[in-house]
Amino acid sequence: MPDHVLAIVARPSLEAPAAPDASDWRFVDPASPQLTALDLGATRGDGIFETLSVNHGRAQALDHHLRRFARSAAMLDLPAPDLATWRAVILAAVAELDVPGEAFVKIVMTRGIEYGDRPTGWAYGSVSPDFTRERSDGVSVVLLDRGYRHDVERTSPWLLAGAKTLSYAVNRAVAREAARRGADDVVFVSSDGIVLEGPTSTVVYRRGDGLFSPGTGLGILDGTTQANVFRWAEGLGMSTAFELTTPDILRSADAAWLVSSVRLAAPVRAIDGVPLPVDREFTDTMNGWLAALDN
Ligand code: PLP
Repeated sequence: MPDHVLAIVARPSLEAPAAPDASDWRFVDPASPQLTALDLGATRGDGIFETLSVNHGRAQALDHHLRRFARSAAMLDLPAPDLATWRAVILAAVAELDVPGEAFVKIVMTRGIEYGDRPTGWAYGSVSPDFTRERSDGVSVVLLDRGYRHDVERTSPWLLAGAKTLSYAVNRAVAREAARRGADDVVFVSSDGIVLEGPTSTVVYRRGDGLFSPGTGLGILDGTTQANVFRWAEGLGMSTAFELTTPDILRSADAAWLVSSVRLAAPVRAIDGVPLPVDREFTDTMNGWLAALDN
């Protein structure tokens, strides 16, 4: 069995015609060329994606990821993804992958070929990178201005803040800016001073017996890992809440994490060069619970 797999989804949406090749989806050789040079996903980043972690042969937070995929599609006025097909493709990719440890499946739907009549879809599964060091030693972050107010999602929905689009060039550019400043990662702050999210993660922090996160409605992603971390904390008897987070609130937290599907929880060990405590035992327990999830 392979350690990476690719499935082409010929019918990603029931609202658009299927590709002529009959089956709703099929596995192909992951090394074979599949995308045309006219695909709007490649030429304009015009499409959506989700990345799910796969632990012990099980896709994590599958329903939440599918819901978010559908929401992103609606925000981009893409045809609604056929979630039954996408679910089947994800489960088949997971079953086909032969990875003893952690893996991921990434699903993508683009607007398709320019002037065409149907979206392009695929699912790619592979072994995950090794995040052991980030999970134990933590990451240093810099706060960077995203340039939008925290209410951008409501005032300017056409900016697609809060949709998981393929346009991640900015999310990669800020990682290079972090490196130039000697840091590992980034936390975005709105132009009016509200903590938002990382370029590939949700911010979670602890104050006393409570876990907090900036929450939704701020033009940020509704994190699947954050939801699971809150579920875990509530099981321990901790309180959880969303709150409007200022940089000062984050800086004075007892501990903070960047959480996301494949890396899981990376403790924040410094913000703009100022150290933040890392609670190794708490983090290890959190990551152990996340890695053992069976749905
Ligand atoms: N925010 C952004 C911008 C992301 O790209 C991601 C994940 O890639 C997240 C948050 C975390 O989301 P999840 O926990 O569902 O992976």
